[in-house]
Amino acid sequence: MNAPAQLIEGKPIAAKVQAEVEARVRELTARYGRPPGLEVVLVGEDPASQVYVRNKERASTKIGMRGAVHRLPADTSEAALTELVQRLNADDTVDGILVQMPLPKHIDAERVIGLIDPGKDVDGLTAINAGKLALGKPGLVPCTPFGCMRMLAEIGCDPAGKRAVVVGRSNLVGKPIAQLLLARHATVTIAHSRTKDLAAVVGEADIVVAAVGVRALIKGEWIKPGAVVLDVGINRGEDGKLYGDVDFAAAQARAGFITPVPGGVGVMTIAMLLSNTVDAAEARLKGR
Ligand code: NDP
Repeated sequence: MNAPAQLIEGKPIAAKVQAEVEARVRELTARYGRPPGLEVVLVGEDPASQVYVRNKERASTKIGMRGAVHRLPADTSEAALTELVQRLNADDTVDGILVQMPLPKHIDAERVIGLIDPGKDVDGLTAINAGKLALGKPGLVPCTPFGCMRMLAEIGCDPAGKRAVVVGRSNLVGKPIAQLLLARHATVTIAHSRTKDLAAVVGEADIVVAAVGVRALIKGEWIKPGAVVLDVGINRGEDGKLYGDVDFAAAQARAGFITPVPGGVGVMTIAMLLSNTVDAAEARLKGR
């Protein structure tokens, strides 16, 4: 019987990232005479989005960035949102633009994302940044996958030569994390809803990333002993609590390292957003 897996807690790693970013914010502000600026756009009153946006605003101002939120009513037209994004693109004091998803149904989210200046796309969702990631070129990387990579680095896990299995192929999480693992020389498999014998696929992995949105889909007995398990899933149970995509207790008994839900990968996302914003600011200010 293995010793239970070590927990990879998000909080201390996120705090470390935030301290690093704060130091860079101080340095950039002193050198260029203004702090990096992050502008978040929220359309509508989705309660979860309101909490996310408030947390992003608080976290950015806490470390000395200029954080602003544009709260627009749910019936905002696509034309009005387009005008705002274009104005933020043109504003030289704005380094990062984040349009909070999901957008109301009458707005074409893909088209709106496509409007964002790729140099200010701190969510890493534009086709330019996704393309750079696919080509292995530097660019802005989606925050949650970026956070997963930082967690691996913090536990000293070098993906080179390892078998990595990413369950989920969304543009937001699955595909970018697979690209990042590939760039770090892992042998990567991407599994999805049509994958046959998921148990056998997951069982080969030295690194498992679960990004599905189905509670306890990944069974503990599938996990290769000693594997690193990053659980991106966030699922609300009938008891109101949050659960991951991995059957945590059983997986913890076999894995070498595992992230809890809540308190794992999810905690990293805002820290990586701040990191992306400071990267975007540095690139823009240096390039002037
Ligand atoms: P999507 O719904 O966009 O993608 C889910 C993926 O899971 C799809 O590729 C789908 O496959 C795959 N899938 C669905 N069912 C199965 C199955 N039974 N077996 C294997 N694969 C399956 O979700 P996201 O990528 O946006 O998010 C995934 C999870 O991560 C969610 O729980 C979300 O809440 C969470 N999340 C957490 C974040 C954070 O920590 N801050 C940030 C973003 C997301 P197919 O493509 O074939 O349909």
